[in-house]
Amino acid sequence: MSNKTLTASNPANDKVLKEYAMLSKEEVQQKLEQTHKAYSSFSQTTVQDRAQRLTVLADLIDEHQKEIATQIAHEMGKPYDQGISETQISSSIARFYADNLPKLMETEQRDVDGAVRAKIVKDPIGAVLGVMPWNYPLYQVIRFAAPALAGGNVCLMKHASNVPGCADLITQLFHKADFEEGIFTWLPVGSEMIEDIINDPVVQGVTLTGSEEAGRKVAEQAGAALKPSVLELGGIDPLIVLDDADIERAVDLAIAGRFDNTGQSCAASKRLIVDKSLAEDFSKRLIEKVKDMRMDDPMSEGVDIGPMSRKDLRDDLHDQVQRAIKSGAKLECGGEIPDRDGAWYPPTVLTNVTQGNPAFNEELFGPVASVVVADNEAHAIELANDCPYGLGSTVVAKDDERGERVSRQLQAGMSFVNRPTTPFAQLPFGGVKGSGYGREQSEYGFGAFMNIRTVYVA
Ligand code: NAP
Repeated sequence: MSNKTLTASNPANDKVLKEYAMLSKEEVQQKLEQTHKAYSSFSQTTVQDRAQRLTVLADLIDEHQKEIATQIAHEMGKPYDQGISETQISSSIARFYADNLPKLMETEQRDVDGAVRAKIVKDPIGAVLGVMPWNYPLYQVIRFAAPALAGGNVCLMKHASNVPGCADLITQLFHKADFEEGIFTWLPVGSEMIEDIINDPVVQGVTLTGSEEAGRKVAEQAGAALKPSVLELGGIDPLIVLDDADIERAVDLAIAGRFDNTGQSCAASKRLIVDKSLAEDFSKRLIEKVKDMRMDDPMSEGVDIGPMSRKDLRDDLHDQVQRAIKSGAKLECGGEIPDRDGAWYPPTVLTNVTQGNPAFNEELFGPVASVVVADNEAHAIELANDCPYGLGSTVVAKDDERGERVSRQLQAGMSFVNRPTTPFAQLPFGGVKGSGYGREQSEYGFGAFMNIRTVYVA
């Protein structure tokens, strides 16, 4: 046994919740051997069997939603109601793959010169390693594991170090749904072990959701080992408010898009790009509403903002806000670290954010809204695309056809009109540019780690 541990602590008050033993190198090796054995039988299971297990998993998530939301609130500070919503999207993804599996696995026939039969069949590839972040501790895991297991692959999960209790609970649910150890395995290890795990022959694919820095490292290691990877990385998504927008609606969408999950979402509306004819009114109403938001214990009812997930990340965010102000942004509310235990940061609004400002160029991963003024529609598009990332995007417009036309000109993997970027099991999730590559959810997520095999009989 390794004597190292992962510590779960509550970011609302800094109290240690529990220590979890980490695996030694030898224990990791044993888990990989178990995974190898499990794959040889699990890959032979029928579509009906795997669909049935995924349905049970979805039911278990629904049954345990209070326990899951509580664990998430305690370990990373997500307001309880938002944790319940996270369980709902998670079970819908498991159910989507259960319900659609026969169609997704269907063999396709093609008319090809000289062939008696020509087919496209879908086979699993082996173990898929998922390196997961803390911000949606359940949803991110389901997003990678449900399609992988549906296809007959097995899963290894390396979860973020600050949510071991969530990792433990999630693992128990998979095991209860008969995705037992070997088919779904949690590896409580540090990131320094990842390269060796990627190099193990049982691992045939790796997916990482997290920062650009971690993504580059893991993609490099997967590339060196010639194993496919999917990367779901950061974003500085735009929410564009066009000149015909209803201001009240735009403000409400901006608040939902920016402050959900205490602003710690990859696809949050991090830059609010507002037409100059509306900017003053929009900012005034936004500031009023943000000042009214309730920051409190994530377990108490009606809370808008919980603590951030970790103090070091809160301090990094505060540093970015300070630098943004030094570079010309105007602090309208928030922006001060409260004098209390825990990783608290108040909902904050910055106006006068322009190109080159840290609040424009860097990902602010917390409850900070940045208002950017655009001269007109073309300028709004230009500002939105002046970004190293391209994950989600939102356009707010009364004329939804115009909104859609504008949204199609944005460099993004997901374009929403009159709604913040929202995950749906049926729609692909992922980005372009620095936001990574590959897709999760929908049939595209299913194809990520399958051997799409040609079978030709002459
Ligand atoms: P992170 O620090 O990159 O951590 C994510 C995962 O990667 C954790 O399990 C972490 O392990 C691991 N990791 C870190 N460095 C690694 C390395 N060198 N080699 C292998 N693994 C490594 O990110 P985070 O702070 O948890 O999450 C915030 C970031 O994730 C933001 O940029 C956000 O936008 C992005 N994100 C993207 C999506 C999306 O779908 N596109 C969704 C959610 C979040 P440890 O915890 O042990 O360090």
